[in-house]
Amino acid sequence: MVRIEVDEVRCNGCNFCVEFCPTSVFQLVTAQGKKVARAAKPEECWACNACMGQCAQHAISVMQDPAPARYLDAENKVPFTPLSEGEKQAYAAYAQSLERVLKLRWQPVAITLIPYGVPLPHVPTPRVKLRYCQALIIARRGNSLLMTAEYHSCADGTSILGLTGIPPKLASGDVYIKLGKVASLEAAKRMVSERLTLPEKSIRATLVTPLAAAVMKPDVVAVMAPPESMMWLCLASTFYTGRRHTFRMSSYNAQCVETTLFPYTTGEINLSLGCYGCRATSDIGDDIMFMGIPLSQLPSLVEGLERLGKKAIPDSRAKIYLPPLV
Ligand code: SF4
Ligand code: SF4
Repeated sequence: MVRIEVDEVRCNGCNFCVEFCPTSVFQLVTAQGKKVARAAKPEECWACNACMGQCAQHAISVMQDPAPARYLDAENKVPFTPLSEGEKQAYAAYAQSLERVLKLRWQPVAITLIPYGVPLPHVPTPRVKLRYCQALIIARRGNSLLMTAEYHSCADGTSILGLTGIPPKLASGDVYIKLGKVASLEAAKRMVSERLTLPEKSIRATLVTPLAAAVMKPDVVAVMAPPESMMWLCLASTFYTGRRHTFRMSSYNAQCVETTLFPYTTGEINLSLGCYGCRATSDIGDDIMFMGIPLSQLPSLVEGLERLGKKAIPDSRAKIYLPPLV
């Protein structure tokens, strides 16, 4: 599925690809009197594109031959139980409210982390390996994707979400220093050890769908929108309580940790500004941030949002207190 080519004329043997590849695919060899990189273990490649991105000589091509989408539910030992019509209507109504009141550009995304032993829904796999954040982009545009570990291309996100273990190079923190994300090994180790991570192989697949077309009960609903919309979502979530939020935002692992796992494990909404990975590998605009809403919070949040949409939101958006310019 993944093919790696190194242009040995361009390659200057700088060793960057060897250092950056999380799964140690490359090794330097001597060919025609100079050091060049070779993909010695191409079968280990996750298609994360880190090597391509870091090679200053543009010598590396990582290509994925698109395969036909698959439907993994054929492997179910127990048949999948579809949502009831009432549940489908409820999720579609939540999506409709969020989009209408906030005038969202992107559809809210239903996220389900499917553990082992739970039947899989009839949703296609992607035709190439994708990062979790890329799958969310596809879902916010209206498509649904089911991804077991073999369809995930980000070693970080895949291990964080409990589909695999973490590769040693990432566990040691080494790669994060090379990427220029942290100053020292100590900081990198702290960043890794303090992030939420689900136990290795506790999750069999990630499912992302537009909320309006959810096929399974979502664990978390993700909204991608500008800060002003996030402000209203924050207000909506405390419309009936007036309490204040404490968000966990570090800008490390924005989609997997901050948007998904914080709401998933705490039952609280969480905001995220995005991270190096999701912004470097996707079309997310500079003006977009993220919120993860646990399903348990969604009904009251949507109810609060509808109330805000009657007066506070239109008043504020109409800038009713803006004094006339003199
Ligand atoms: S990063 Fe590029 S130039 Fe450097 S060794 Fe790898 S392929 Fe060659
Ligand atoms: S795409 Fe990622 S996993 Fe594959 S060789 Fe490049 S750095 Fe390694």
